[in-house]
Amino acid sequence: MNNKKSNNRQKSKPVSVVSGGAGFLGSNLVDLLLNKGHRVIVLDNLITGNINNIAHLAGNEDFRFIKQDVTEYIFIDEPVDYVWHFASPASPVDYLELPIQTLKVGSLGTHKALGLARKKGALFLLASTSEVYGDPLVHPQREDYWGNVNPIGLRGCYDEAKRFGEAITMAYHRQHNLKTRIARIFNTYGPRMRMNDGRVVPSFITRALKNKPIAVQGDGNQTRSFCYVSDLIDGIYKLMMSEELLPVNIGNPQEITILEFAKKVIQLTGSHSKIVFKPPLPDDPRQRRPDISRARKRLGWEPQVPLEEGLLKTIEFFRKNL
Ligand code: NAD
Ligand code: UDP
Repeated sequence: MNNKKSNNRQKSKPVSVVSGGAGFLGSNLVDLLLNKGHRVIVLDNLITGNINNIAHLAGNEDFRFIKQDVTEYIFIDEPVDYVWHFASPASPVDYLELPIQTLKVGSLGTHKALGLARKKGALFLLASTSEVYGDPLVHPQREDYWGNVNPIGLRGCYDEAKRFGEAITMAYHRQHNLKTRIARIFNTYGPRMRMNDGRVVPSFITRALKNKPIAVQGDGNQTRSFCYVSDLIDGIYKLMMSEELLPVNIGNPQEITILEFAKKVIQLTGSHSKIVFKPPLPDDPRQRRPDISRARKRLGWEPQVPLEEGLLKTIEFFRKNL
């Protein structure tokens, strides 16, 4: 009786499948979807994710975790309304260590996730990236810029996998009439980032909290624009629920040099860390800032959380987990 009741209740809920849902962004998305009344199924092989990111959902009857590599055939034994494809190593340190897995999940994994969406008649959203612009020659980056990517460079495994992902997503839309969305995500930070994932935010904060030297790669004049995770997830949700078929930049246009960023982290943590300079990474983009006119116009979205506020929350998270 209870089971019947709960099945009936579950049927009336939209069902979302989140690939990569045990990762940083995926798990934050899962929390938002559950809050919005979705039933959520996470597919993740935990290659860069962490089960602790979804441990708080154990016992929630609207939540299901399937440990699986999404480059393999995906079988889901219930209706699905939305497929959010977030599975992929995302930090340069991770994808430099896992170049083949990165290429496979961006190509074969995207194909399987699209196949699932097609079979279920679900809407599909691809978590793409600002890396499709490579080391951009146009600044800030608009969605109609085609990019400057070195296909055989060290970052090529990630950039080209994501570019392929965008291409096959548009192909499924054009050939099968699938309702697809493409989010070009710019650097995002916040709680649940892996402390040792090598990205600049966890790397600088954890070094600062330990009063150890902070390593700036290159001269530190390269820029990034950091978006707080709650803003990003809000933009992703709005994109899925919109009618927008073309790629949309989701990120925060507030740009900062990496050297300035290191100083800000030192100041906000009250650290005694010194800044040291290391050789630049190959093909490291010199500048990155999203033009978010399309997101503003078509989604009515723009980020709300200023850098200092988001950083203080993130520092708090790392302080607790150090
Ligand atoms: P993350 O590493 O924390 O999460 C990725 C998740 O995907 C992990 O849980 C990992 O185990 C899972 N995964 C990887 N390969 C898989 C496979 N073959 N099968 C099943 N699961 C697999 O990274 P993140 O920062 O949360 O990034 C999530 C997505 O957003 C990625 O697609 C990434 O390219 C994209 N993105 C993130 C950022 C950012 O700043 N965080 C920027 C641009 C794009
Ligand atoms: N970076 C750095 N020190 C670090 C980690 C990163 O100076 O410990 C630099 C890196 O060279 C790049 C920027 O910070 O210019 C952002 O790097 P991240 O790995 O966060 O991601 P990316 O934006 O390059 O994908």
